[in-house]
Amino acid sequence: MAKLYVVPTPIGNLGDITFRAIEVLKSVDLILAEDTRTSGKLLKHYEISTPVQAYHMHNEHRNTDYFVAMIANGKTLALISDAGTPAISDPGFMLVRSCVKNNIVVECLPGATAFVPALVDSGLPSDRFVFEGFLPHKKGRKKRLEALINETRTLIFYESPFRIKKTLVQMSEYFGADRQAVVARELSKIYESVNRGTLKNLVEQIDEGLLKEKGEIVLLVSGKPEEKRKSNSQ
Ligand code: SAM
Repeated sequence: MAKLYVVPTPIGNLGDITFRAIEVLKSVDLILAEDTRTSGKLLKHYEISTPVQAYHMHNEHRNTDYFVAMIANGKTLALISDAGTPAISDPGFMLVRSCVKNNIVVECLPGATAFVPALVDSGLPSDRFVFEGFLPHKKGRKKRLEALINETRTLIFYESPFRIKKTLVQMSEYFGADRQAVVARELSKIYESVNRGTLKNLVEQIDEGLLKEKGEIVLLVSGKPEEKRKSNSQ
């Protein structure tokens, strides 16, 4: 039966792709890629010669119906993004939603995504967490931060190296300078690093050159400590 596969690809280390992901990419009629040139390197490496077409944030509004119709007419498609799992801070949601609406089977393969290893490496509570993706750069940024002030679960953000210092400083103002946080950089790559400390201390680590404002970053912030419940026994 025709379906849409959503296929995670490595976030850095080319080895971080499953056997099944490669099999699926070899077997489908068409691969939809966020950037055909970026994915071309991965596909070449794994000798995948399936046809590829572009599906990215600039054409997803225009092309979603076209690809959904293709699946409805019997073709099986696989969606990949530049790195990690499509639809996680990447294009994909619109296509998945449209497939679901049209009773087309969607199968997302388990696989690479940046926030899971970052959360586990961080040492912050991983039983309950909130994934916030990228904060808005301007409009809506303060509102989003305000809404998170009393959040008790671990907070996870994707952040650019050009904004990391500004974000840490701003978060100190909203969440308090003593809130624990972790900056996980370049996961699975040569210069992988995980820096831990308070928000204030992480800014100091940047100033001291111990934390580089370079590469790809997941920022994790500890949730607000829960107030101790009053004992009923008193
Ligand atoms: N779809 C991807 C996923 O499943 O994680 C996320 C794509 S989003 C456009 C790219 C952001 O993910 C980067 O700016 C960074 O915040 C994070 N990221 C991706 N690869 C990473 C890596 N190797 N180390 C740390 N963060 C990474």
